[in-house]
Amino acid sequence: MNSGKICVSVCAETADEFIENIKRAEQFADIIELRFDCLDLKEFRKKQSSFFSARKPLLLTYRPKEQGGRRELSRYQRIEFWRAAMTNNSSVKRKFWIDCEFDLINRIQKSPDAEIICSFHDFAGVPDNLNEIYENLSQSADIVKIAVQADDIADSIAVWKLLERAKSDYKKVIPIAMGEAGKWTRILGLAFGAPLAYASLGAGEETAAGQISERQMRDVYPVKELNEQTEIYGIVGNPVKHSLSPFMHNRAFRFHDLNAVYIPFAVKNLHDFINRMVKTETREIDLNLKGFSVTIPHKQAIIEYLDEIDETAKRIGAVNTVKIENGKLFGYNTDADGFMEPLQNAYGDLRDAKVAVFGGGGAARAVVFALKRAGANVTIFARDLKKVEKLAAEFNAELKKISKSEEDQKSKTDFNAFDLIVNATPLGTTGKLENETPVFARDIEQVKLVYDLIYNPFETKFIKEAGRANVPTISGLAMLVAQGMKQFEIWTGKPAPMREMSRAALNEIKN
Ligand code: NAP
Repeated sequence: MNSGKICVSVCAETADEFIENIKRAEQFADIIELRFDCLDLKEFRKKQSSFFSARKPLLLTYRPKEQGGRRELSRYQRIEFWRAAMTNNSSVKRKFWIDCEFDLINRIQKSPDAEIICSFHDFAGVPDNLNEIYENLSQSADIVKIAVQADDIADSIAVWKLLERAKSDYKKVIPIAMGEAGKWTRILGLAFGAPLAYASLGAGEETAAGQISERQMRDVYPVKELNEQTEIYGIVGNPVKHSLSPFMHNRAFRFHDLNAVYIPFAVKNLHDFINRMVKTETREIDLNLKGFSVTIPHKQAIIEYLDEIDETAKRIGAVNTVKIENGKLFGYNTDADGFMEPLQNAYGDLRDAKVAVFGGGGAARAVVFALKRAGANVTIFARDLKKVEKLAAEFNAELKKISKSEEDQKSKTDFNAFDLIVNATPLGTTGKLENETPVFARDIEQVKLVYDLIYNPFETKFIKEAGRANVPTISGLAMLVAQGMKQFEIWTGKPAPMREMSRAALNEIKN
């Protein structure tokens, strides 16, 4: 547990909506930020006394557009606003916060009940003089808030370091790196001494890039329960925005009551991340990182940074799990076993089974390795044979070209000759490829089992085609959960709670 507070930002264009949102925020927020710059002045005047009667402490913000606010505001308008707001809120006679930009900080008649946050925003990047900005702001404010735009994860290091600086100055700072790459600063801020963590009312209601919903702050990353001893895990990749792993792993940590959290780490430059944030000898900040999952595009590139790598990962040539112990990085691959577990449960012994695998990328490598290890005969179907030749040769698999049209496909390949068909391509995944399938119902009626690695949507077109042909199926969620369970066990040495992890992932897919 830390002493920080979750501040839910409320923004709406009309007074009625604004009041409605305040009511929603009242249920969960420690503090409600009223983003008055969302409202037009007429709307503000209409019901201003109702805004101040919320049952939770308030933070008032009236941000001009150039600092990330919603509307153009003249200096005069801003001064007038603060004058009126101070009078209004003071009449309620309770403590409140105001978030004021640096240029006005000395123009505000501070009420004795008000605590002042002085904020600075840079939406273009990270200024070189962050320390100077911090020094200026901290002279006149109780709390300094500095928000910068992070394009890659290492861009957030400079602003994060202000926490150390503030600690030694006995000051309070809220360091925020905006955007996906800075999401971790929003999750870990309270644990490392920031007094407030900003949250949105819900998904799609963010008032700044990378902001996390209040529900996730409470239920997924329980930000108020974290501290500097919390063990940090995460998913390293790009993109990681839609990963289900944070939901699964955080649920598992809670199940075992562990002081641990799992965070999305949006990493473009792996070298910078490893050297500046992970390796004990070179890192610039210490987050108490204990391990991470690795996903596209870093599963192969990570290998050169590891101290040791296990036999399976070595054979596959890719690592999806890193454990950090005594400053050393150990690499594993749980995709192969994660793929195999639900398959063996459903199919049994795979010796001599005839298997068609669609795709020749990273997931296909783990799949082909696992199938060959189990004694199956594998044929890989790929659209570009050149790219997949090496994989096929390495694992002694046959190789066939995916035909472009449905009719070509039918004339060339008898899929009923296979026992199992695996989709390891993105065909069928939510978005542009959602209505695609590697094969159709009429071509697979004799097949014993269909396995789609895609888990979003839960029921893909391929799974539906198999259903129409009365062929049993395994969905990608089963593999996702099984590989995640193995990661959890590698990191914690505790049995992974399957039901909790599946439910957490499924809930998120259905949300
Ligand atoms: P990847 O390394 O990018 O490989 C994708 C493969 O699919 C490549 O061989 C690619 O061929 C092929 N492909 C892409 N678009 C295609 C299309 N329109 N038609 C035919 N083939 C196409 O990705 P990956 O890591 O192997 O992942 C593949 C899929 O499996 C992803 O959708 C991922 O979400 C899913 N997955 C699921 C799990 C799980 O736990 N359930 C685990 C890992 C991956 P080219 O090289 O010609 O582009």
